[in-house]
Amino acid sequence: MPTQNPPLRLNFSTRWQYAPAPETAKVEIKPSYDLFIGGKFSPSTEGKTFETVNPATEKPLSQVASATHKDVDRAVKSARNAYDKVWSKMPAKERGKYVYRIARMIQERARELSIIESMDGGKAIRESRDVDIPLVAAHFFYYAGWADKLEYAFPGRAPRALGVCGQIIPWNFPLLMAAWKIAPAIACGNTVVLKPAETTPLTSLKLAEIIQDCDLPPGVVNIITGAGDTGAAIVNHPGIDKIAFTGSTDVGKRIMSAIAGTNKKYTLELGGKAANVIFDDATIDQAVEGIINGIFFNQGHVCCAGSRLLVQESIHDKVIAKLQDRMQTLIVGDPLDKNTDIGAINSKMQLEKINGYLSLAGDEGANVWQTDCELPAKGFFCRPTLFLNCAQSHRVVQEEIFGPVLAVQTFRTPEEAVEKANNTPYGLSGGVWTDKGSKIFKITNAMRAGVVWANTYNKFDPTSPFGGYKESGVGREGGLHGLAAYLRVD
Ligand code: ADP
Repeated sequence: MPTQNPPLRLNFSTRWQYAPAPETAKVEIKPSYDLFIGGKFSPSTEGKTFETVNPATEKPLSQVASATHKDVDRAVKSARNAYDKVWSKMPAKERGKYVYRIARMIQERARELSIIESMDGGKAIRESRDVDIPLVAAHFFYYAGWADKLEYAFPGRAPRALGVCGQIIPWNFPLLMAAWKIAPAIACGNTVVLKPAETTPLTSLKLAEIIQDCDLPPGVVNIITGAGDTGAAIVNHPGIDKIAFTGSTDVGKRIMSAIAGTNKKYTLELGGKAANVIFDDATIDQAVEGIINGIFFNQGHVCCAGSRLLVQESIHDKVIAKLQDRMQTLIVGDPLDKNTDIGAINSKMQLEKINGYLSLAGDEGANVWQTDCELPAKGFFCRPTLFLNCAQSHRVVQEEIFGPVLAVQTFRTPEEAVEKANNTPYGLSGGVWTDKGSKIFKITNAMRAGVVWANTYNKFDPTSPFGGYKESGVGREGGLHGLAAYLRVD
């Protein structure tokens, strides 16, 4: 490595103290929630329930119904009935009005939804308030607009709805994933059975209340809660025409083999291990912000997180010094405090998984560096972490960890950067930082990833398609591509 001047280090020994700024609005979380089927809430047929816990306090929030096979059958029948009798017959213009109504009601109740999202899932209120919930509304608005314009979207191709869609979503963006799934599906004239993840069911159930308040015809949207068994029962139900799944690559593979040989259509949005590539001509301070946003947004529980940093060797020391200084300023703690940058890890199980990788990184030969921030005594928290000096073969470089941990590698030439960026089983996203436009075009084209950001990271918009290559999944959500996924287009 060429000799470098020692980087200028900031002194963090006298840390700034912030007064707590907790979100104080009261929200209503009921002690228990039933399944939302056919426009009404009803208990699980066997009376089974499970607990949802606040990961920042470890205290239970509510007892939620666990849907059995019979409940899945009830929900699918109700969706079929609504499809045959009401939704597929309704003029598209009228359908669009309902979707607009849902969008507006989400905006009206944005604050309540943000707080519940942070309580149930652990994400910082700043993110649920400023990113998740505004994007939820934006998705409903965007797809509402398409409802009566499908012939313009696919001219001369007679687009038709698919029927009943089974939708299974993860815990990292609970309400946003529900919006990604429900909005295009119902705008296109399908009906749905949606299952949120078992650790984050509450905002989907709040959405069910909103849907009730909007007088959406009963059965158009059914929301049933439960764990993997409930998800598998949706996948295997013969009355389902399409499966839309976001979650782990393992479960995605299981779903794909379960529906092989059936007529079910599918979109699978699975894991990722994105490379954020920093060239020596990049604006370093901006790139450092991009690295921070790329991996520490939502505690790193992001399938498109920039979880691998590829930094050009000549600027490695400078970038790492600035990154470490910036990381020291990150506040980890109460998700409901507006100062918090990094909230709680979603569950005890996920924290154990991350901790497993922290010890593995050391065993594999990486240098594990963490900030020295204080962590709350209760709850599931993890310090922002760097794995320095990683090799391409390290498991922490190859496997999705889903936590606030960043694996760091260097490269010398653009070819080496591309080679390393593409050398994982995944292909969901990536980032490139350089001040040369030509380099942006060359590198982004060479990166085998569904979404590549240039001089920015983690930018989302309902008009923009999202999805992956290789083990990151099949199909696209968002934009026109996201509409096509819910239509038969001949
Ligand atoms: P992660 O927990 O890493 O997000 P999972 O793939 O385990 O990913 O979970 C995503 C969603 O898939 C959750 O709603 C979960 O309940 C559901 N799920 C888990 N196992 C299955 C399965 N075998 N079939 C269908 N859905 C499943």
